[in-house]
Amino acid sequence: MQVETGSISIHTENIFPIIKKFLYSDHEIFLRELVSNAVDASQKLKYLSSRGEFTGESGALKISVKIDSDKKTLHIVDRGIGMTGEEVKKYINQIAFSGATEFLNKYKEKPESGQLIGNFGLGFYSAFMVASEVEIVSLSWQEGAQAVRWKCDGSTEFTLEAADKTDRGTEIILHLNSDSEEFLQSHRIQSILEKYCRFMPVEIEFEEKIINNTKPLWTRKPADISNEEYEKFYEELFPYQPKPLFWIHLNVDFPFTLTGILYFPKYRPEIEPGKSRIQLYSRQVFITDAVKEVVPDFLMLLEGVLDSPDIPLNVSRSFLQADQNVKKINAHISKKVADKLTEIFRENREDFTAKWEDIQMFVKYGMLSDEKFLEKAKEFCLLQTTEGSYHTFEEYKTLVAEKQTDKDGKLILLYSNNPELQHTYLKGALDKGYSVLKMGTMIDAHFTGLLERTMENVSLVSIDSGSLDSLIDKGEERTALLSETESGDLKKELEEYLKTIGTYTVEVKALGEQEPPLLLTQPEFMRRMREMSALGQMSMMGNFPETWNAVLNTAHPLVAGLARETDAIKKKELTAQITDLALLSAGKLSGPRMAEFVKRSLGLMGK
Ligand code: ADP
Repeated sequence: MQVETGSISIHTENIFPIIKKFLYSDHEIFLRELVSNAVDASQKLKYLSSRGEFTGESGALKISVKIDSDKKTLHIVDRGIGMTGEEVKKYINQIAFSGATEFLNKYKEKPESGQLIGNFGLGFYSAFMVASEVEIVSLSWQEGAQAVRWKCDGSTEFTLEAADKTDRGTEIILHLNSDSEEFLQSHRIQSILEKYCRFMPVEIEFEEKIINNTKPLWTRKPADISNEEYEKFYEELFPYQPKPLFWIHLNVDFPFTLTGILYFPKYRPEIEPGKSRIQLYSRQVFITDAVKEVVPDFLMLLEGVLDSPDIPLNVSRSFLQADQNVKKINAHISKKVADKLTEIFRENREDFTAKWEDIQMFVKYGMLSDEKFLEKAKEFCLLQTTEGSYHTFEEYKTLVAEKQTDKDGKLILLYSNNPELQHTYLKGALDKGYSVLKMGTMIDAHFTGLLERTMENVSLVSIDSGSLDSLIDKGEERTALLSETESGDLKKELEEYLKTIGTYTVEVKALGEQEPPLLLTQPEFMRRMREMSALGQMSMMGNFPETWNAVLNTAHPLVAGLARETDAIKKKELTAQITDLALLSAGKLSGPRMAEFVKRSLGLMGK
């Protein structure tokens, strides 16, 4: 064979420097591309052999990656089908390079897609990101093939000549450029291989060790896998984490191909929301862990792997969002998750309840963001009471219907965001035979609204948002112990006094027997607005300050006494005392005011 030189058929001159520049941040993917080519070539050989087209000895199809620090070269060697000279010309000079040209044209149209390049399968061509010269030495599987050596220094010129390689397969030799000498460090190569190649289907050897698991769990039949194996695989993916709660093994053939395992982790507050812990693979080749478009938002809290050759990787994000396959995959995952939760709920409610604390966050998030999920989750979503019992929506409605239906036939559900702090209010409600729901996770501000929308004719109110009479209005009449003038005057005095503490709207009302003389309440609507704005959902509406009302209970004997008190000093002292007790119950007494309260109380005890 003559030494052949030629020109690579690309139309854009000097395409190399441009690509090098824009691929800068993702240089390391060259190794993924070259090793996956080696994997493909090995699998093609297996296929030919299984069809009887290749009858020779295929031997171990192991791929090796080697560093030669003296020569500053990196070698990727496979025992796959290899290439003849003609094939090198066709596949490398024409096809591989046309892929790169296509990329460049796309890039020219849309320069802002620069950050997406990492997902762009540049294939063989990406070798030039790190190498000043690339050699391919290859011997094809075909009978009587002549081994060849192809060389190219990153210009558009190449040479092709006969080589003396005697074993079948391909060796890619990268002469690393001076900017890329990091790839001569073994720990660097090791970590790139672990990141991208850890589950590739053909054995990959680096420094005498096999670095990959060729049959990762998601490629196996769910029926053949034990719980221990699922847990072990989780540990392999996420070492040093608590055991997962449960998992879903996805296995879809139609209308798209998708496999994978998604784990429900134990809730860990330190996990950054919005940061995905799901890895996306395409035929066992790691692509990315930025799966935002593929996985429904609320399931970003799950962890694990997805593998699908049907997810386009070389297109922009907006395209990905509109992609029909991606949409279907998204819907499918969401459905699977809902089905799995339903199954656990029906089969083992005790276990489901025990895990509720950990999973409630994404169940609620899912119900808020996905209609179909909501429909299914209505069956298994649990409401927890302050007394520690758990009920489904339907069960809870039945449980409280008798006591908590108001005079208009509306069912009122009471909740507390902080049972500890609101204990005075809580005790009042429980003593009356009411049930109180425990809320208070970040998402509950939205969830309360959702409950009202989903359960018909139901209102949710926080136990500190009004007197018990007003929260569940049963139309009972209470008699005031004060005349109209007496309450009017006392109201004015109290208003003056409260101005010195903060902003309070004073309301005068005869309340039930158990209620205190003065009750501080936070209107439900304002509280929700404030909580949502704190969650950053309504930031354009500005910050909501806390809004409090003060309800003066004119049915309380102490209030009647206060109205009729003639000693000015005593009156002031009593007003202060009643106010402080109200503040204390609302968890709002602190600082100098607390010290003053203690002193005044002791003084009063002495009298
Ligand atoms: P792609 O892998 O997406 O087809 P590449 O640019 O990576 O694109 O490779 C172009 C072609 O060169 C491949 O399709 C394959 O035919 C051939 N090729 C690349 N690497 C090897 C290899 N190690 N062994 C055999 N053929 C290879």
